[in-house]
Amino acid sequence: MTGVCLVCDHESPRHGCDDCRNRLITLLRELEHYTVELLPLMLQPARGQTGRMSPGYGSRSPGSDDVLSALDPRSRPGDVDEDGEAILRRPDDMASWQRSLPSSTIGIAGWIAEERGELAPKSFGGSLDYIRGHLWWCAGREDFAELYGDVAELHSQARSLSNDRPQDPLADCMDVTCDGKVFEGGYKKPARCGTCRRVYEGLDLVRLGVAEETAA
Ligand SMILES: [Zn+2]
Ligand SMILES: [Zn+2]
Repeated sequence: MTGVCLVCDHESPRHGCDDCRNRLITLLRELEHYTVELLPLMLQPARGQTGRMSPGYGSRSPGSDDVLSALDPRSRPGDVDEDGEAILRRPDDMASWQRSLPSSTIGIAGWIAEERGELAPKSFGGSLDYIRGHLWWCAGREDFAELYGDVAELHSQARSLSNDRPQDPLADCMDVTCDGKVFEGGYKKPARCGTCRRVYEGLDLVRLGVAEETAA
């Protein structure tokens, strides 16, 4: 059987090619790094701020409430739909949607486990291991691109929360009539072309990265 990878459109015997599985492994590793190491640091009071206020009081960096809710392992309203099913995509009518990084990751692993008829991992770390361990299986499925897009979205949310953004343009705009460059949007804003303002999210963002890598 020969076909194309559903993420990057390159020839691949499986729905997800080797390169995209490797990219996904990198995204998961960085997601773990942001969630476990970088973001918790942002919740500590800024260094050098002493005084009468108790520690952690009023001296946090802007956006720390968003960091707090992104690290919150509990499901919050908005994470589930009216039937109690986890929402895996950003609803169209919401401009910004803060997802819980641990519970969304546990949700992805839970979905894979359900499809495989296995017991779902309960912890964030266990879920990352479980997803990594089943990437080959996932790459054989027609919804591989959705899994990829979902992880990529969590990864970009984590990255923009931790302000670890590349300053250089991400890539050339994919619009054939535009010769602009796409920039990371920054805090709570999607990546955009600086010229035509086209927004890059989800799979578009993935394809942009893949196109740039191939051109380099
Ligand atoms: Zn691919
Ligand atoms: Zn453009």
